[in-house]
Parts: sequence; C-alpha cells; structure tokens
Amino acid sequence: MLKRKLIFLSTPHMSGREMLYIEDAFRKNQIFPNGANVEAFAEDLKRVTGVGYVSCLSSGTAAIHLALIILGVEQGDEVICSSFTFSASANPIVYQKALPIFIESELATWNMQPAMLEEAIRDRIKKGKKPKAIIAVDLYGMPARLDEIMEIANRYEIPVIEDAAEAIGSKFNGQACGTFGEIGILSFNGNKAITTSAGGAFISNNEEYCNQAYFLSTQARDDFPHYEHTEIGYNYRMSNICAAIGRGQMDVFDERISKRRENFFFYKEALKDMDCITFLEEPDDRFYSNHWLTTILIDPKKTDRLAPEKIRKKLEKLNIETRSLWKPMHLQPVFKDCPAYVDGTSERLFNIGLCLPSSTCITDEERQFVADSLRKIINNRQF
Ligand SMILES: *Cc1c(COP(=O)(O)O)cnc(C)c1O
Repeated sequence: MLKRKLIFLSTPHMSGREMLYIEDAFRKNQIFPNGANVEAFAEDLKRVTGVGYVSCLSSGTAAIHLALIILGVEQGDEVICSSFTFSASANPIVYQKALPIFIESELATWNMQPAMLEEAIRDRIKKGKKPKAIIAVDLYGMPARLDEIMEIANRYEIPVIEDAAEAIGSKFNGQACGTFGEIGILSFNGNKAITTSAGGAFISNNEEYCNQAYFLSTQARDDFPHYEHTEIGYNYRMSNICAAIGRGQMDVFDERISKRRENFFFYKEALKDMDCITFLEEPDDRFYSNHWLTTILIDPKKTDRLAPEKIRKKLEKLNIETRSLWKPMHLQPVFKDCPAYVDGTSERLFNIGLCLPSSTCITDEERQFVADSLRKIINNRQF
C-alpha cells in the first residue's frame, strides 16, 4: 500500500509573499538583525493586537526572560506561573535564579484557576514572600479568565506577564490576548499560528518597558558613539530575514486564524457522534480562541481505558501526527521541588488528552481521514 503523506500536527504554511520581503531585504543587503522588515512586522503586530508598543525578539522565551528582568525579578524572588504549559513559560524564571510557583488549571479553559491563584498569593505572603510577577498562559489559544486573574493581580499589586505565545488572534471580551497584563509575549516559532521560522515579541502599552526590552535585546548598548555599557545585555534581536517571513504571514493573518478555528469546528462536527470525546471549547461568548491546536479529551471510562498514547501510536502508523497535551510543570522532574498549588486537574487532562493535526494547510480530505481514523481506532479497538 502506498504510504500517504504525513499529516503534520502544526506545520509552517507560507503565503508565498514571504519571498517578496526576503528578496527586498537581499536587494538592499539588509541581512542583519533589526532593520526595515522588523519595524514593519512590529507595526503589523500592533495592528492586529491593538497594543501600543512592540519589540520583536529572537524567541518567545527571550521575551519572557526580558519581561522578568524588566519587572525586577532577581535571585530568590518567587514568580507565579501556570503549571499546565510548555516549559518555555517557566524556564526564564530559573534563568533569573528565582523560584517558580505553579498554579493549577481549571476544567473550562484549561488555564490558571483564579481561586487557586489567590490562595497561592495569600499563602506565599503568609510564608514571608510576596510573588514578584504572575505568568498567565493562554494555552492552545484559549484565553485564560483574564478578567478574574487581572482583578486578583491588581488587588495584590502583582504585575502580570501574559504568555500569549499560542494565542495570537485570540480575544477575551473583544480585547486581544497578550494585552491584558503589564507585558505580553508572542511566539513565532515554526509550529505556531504565525511563524517567522523562529522569533517572538515583547508587547506592552508601557513605552518605557518596550524601550527597555529593545535596549536589553541589543547588548544594553548605551547611547554613545562608542560601545559603552552600564548593564548586562543580551543578543535577543530578531533577524531582518525572519521578520520578512513574518510580514508575508501577516498579509494572510485573518485567513490563517479563520482556518485554525475552522479546523476545530470541522473536527467537532465530524466526531459529534463520539460521546467519549470532548473538546476544549470557549466557555461563553467572551472567549474567542484562535484554536491554534484542536485538542480533545478521550474519556477512559467510555473506551475501556483506551489510553490516548495507544491511539497516538496507532495514528502514527497511519502517518497522522498527533501529540499528547503538555505535561504539567509540577510533574516535570526539573521542577519537582517547586511549590505547586494543584488539585489534579491538569494531571488528569494530561493523562486523557490529545492534540489533533491543526495546520492551516491541512486539506479537507486529510481532516476527514484523521476523524475517520480516530473513530475507527476507538470503535473497533484495532490493535
Ligand atoms: C512556544 C511557546 C513559548 C516559547 O516560544 P519560543 O518562541 O519557542 O521561545 C512560550 N510559551 C508557550 C506557552 C509556548 O507554546
């Protein structure tokens, strides 16, 4: 049997316009970090998020790192972070020699539980240290309960970094994800909804924060004709060539977000007869998810305890790439000694969840094949 082409989980999808911007950069020999494409890409990002200031960087991780530095996070400080996330949300806390404090997810959004956040803040204060910052993640593109999280953060006067790496184009109450906290971050890694091959952005309505991010990202060069430094800096700049890719992507931004969302609605409809499958859905009409990845839960009680890992392996044999959900940070060996305010929710999600192929270049036929294969595997127990 002819093997079918691999159906990717989330693969880059070029518009074709990227090459125009790249060729322009080549023609002008602007083959360096920053430059005209980086400035134009930052304008594109301002347009779609409505944020005041954008600093384009080499990665989303770099953006989180600079956010922590700018908020004054230092050795021995504590920083609150969603546990159910990719490790990049939490690693920069450790770069600063600070301590991550992990918070459980809620079932409705899979994001930070506001009640648990408040409980953790009170407990940390009682133990003697007020957390320096809160990193709130919009996982798989689903907005967190940003109204409640911001209310709590404001009441305790703790700044929020919104990790919207997976949530460009998502909105809460009509406001773009990434713009709720003091600082937001975006990622343009190859698997994200909009890619620059590798890249990220630091976004804020605070001009001073954005200027500082730019300054630190260019080795903290002071304003002198020679190279003068009063602070330790980083090389976290975005390449002008990467930004050219980003500009080509932003030319089709609306189509890309619509297609991600359409993938979700397709799978939901195609699998509606499967009562063992539930989807990560917008809890009410304030939530607008880009549905970066369509994610499902497979109820083990309704499938004779058929583990998602077995389903994943079976789909892999059919050349369909799926992936388990993020393993919560409080269960990661590297973070095992960090305080965690948890109740088993994210652990359970991790145990029974699966991400479905969600690229924007996926064809109708491929999506149907994914849905049909999933149904067959679960119904027929084909092992
Ligand atoms: C991708 C991602 C990041 C990091 O972005 P990079 O550009 O890969 O450094 C941070 N947080 C989350 C939730 C992510 O998915």
